[in-house]
Amino acid sequence: MTIEQSGDVESGAVESSRALFARAKRATPGGVNSPVRAFHAVGGTPRFMVRGEGAYLWDADGNRYVDLVSSWGPMILGHAAPTVLDAVRTAAGNGLSFGTPTEGEVSLAEEIIARVGPVDQVRLVNSGTEATMSAVRLARGYTGRRKIIKFAGCYHGHVDALLAQAGSGVATLGLPTSPGVTGAQAADTIVLPYNDVDAVRAAFAAEPGQVAAVITEAAAGNMGVVPPERGFNAALRDACHDAGALLIVDEVMTGFRVSAAGWFGLEGVAGDLYTFGKVMSGGLPAAAFGGRAEVMARLAPDGPVYQAGTLSGNPVAVAAGLATLRAADEKVYRALDRNARRLGQLFTDALTAEGVAHCVQYAGNMVGVFFADGPVRDYSAAQAAATWRFPPFFHALLERGVYPPPSAFEAWFVNAAMDDEALDVITEALPHAAAAAAAAEEVPT
Ligand SMILES: *Cc1c(COP(=O)(O)O)cnc(C)c1O
Repeated sequence: MTIEQSGDVESGAVESSRALFARAKRATPGGVNSPVRAFHAVGGTPRFMVRGEGAYLWDADGNRYVDLVSSWGPMILGHAAPTVLDAVRTAAGNGLSFGTPTEGEVSLAEEIIARVGPVDQVRLVNSGTEATMSAVRLARGYTGRRKIIKFAGCYHGHVDALLAQAGSGVATLGLPTSPGVTGAQAADTIVLPYNDVDAVRAAFAAEPGQVAAVITEAAAGNMGVVPPERGFNAALRDACHDAGALLIVDEVMTGFRVSAAGWFGLEGVAGDLYTFGKVMSGGLPAAAFGGRAEVMARLAPDGPVYQAGTLSGNPVAVAAGLATLRAADEKVYRALDRNARRLGQLFTDALTAEGVAHCVQYAGNMVGVFFADGPVRDYSAAQAAATWRFPPFFHALLERGVYPPPSAFEAWFVNAAMDDEALDVITEALPHAAAAAAAAEEVPT
């Protein structure tokens, strides 16, 4: 077997993952179906996972990892939760897709509506990207306006109009936007710094009667974790309402993760439209957008704004989502909060001991660590952090059985299945990672 990586950073057995990655690269661009999985920002071989249970993942070489990605958020109960698997088996036994309405869709919609006060109605879709794309179209259709305000470093899926200065993989690859997005698609997007109320007011003043909506992550988790400052979301709501625009709160990441009612449950600021995904899918492809009945009434077939999906509301995906939400009781949210605080404290302890400048930030139970003196309140501060310390930090954890997000611009996602044993693995690995981060040298670019 040829080892493709020069200066190979890996010491554990990765032969099977390496062989699979070589095969994958012939079959699909970069060998992955979503860019961040390719380990571009950290180097080395992406681990091909074969199994998950509780707090752990196992890769194709039999290595076990404490999973701090949780499928980018959805797996709040941990992997292969028996109640969710039972629901999926039952649903699948009745057939996979009918292209007709089913009761499960109604129950999932009702569950979401019951949890998130400002949401009167929802429409189910297949991904967070579809949810934000549809919400933006609906906001434009409802207001009869074109412009959208978004924030640098916020990620709303790969919707053309929303890729400008986006977070997540777009940030990881350092792209300002994406080729293939036309000037016309980007021209109606106004990008502002996160947490900057004055910039929002100025933009509204400069574009009277033009702005259809402001779209914001309820709490930013795609440029690392950058919570909204006190009053920011409320100021967005007020600015929107003063200008006759809608506030689209993207809770794809925070929804049903940071509390039973998502970020809304923590902060109580009502948006006009909401987008959900990740946790409400239970790990299968499902997402949703929803909001005030009067706005949702503009959607086809009741209204003229078109939106549809062959597999939307898929019975198996709906069963997984519903089982996950129903299992996510107070005990689960307490465990998530506790595990997030313990992880954050472990970061602080290990990095402080090595004298590495850092700042741990939380948005509910989402945790992020920046190699910078904090607080980090926007994308430019996130980009200015010593991200070159991240790859050695990452690999030191990976080699010791911890699976971190493979980018400095992603949140770390705990799950409720993390027990003392899992935390012990992290506790033992982190001092090595902190030492590796301390020893890292900036590579001139
Ligand atoms: C993940 C994410 C999306 C996109 O969801 P996909 O299912 O990956 O299309 C949108 N918005 C936010 C805030 C997200 O975290």
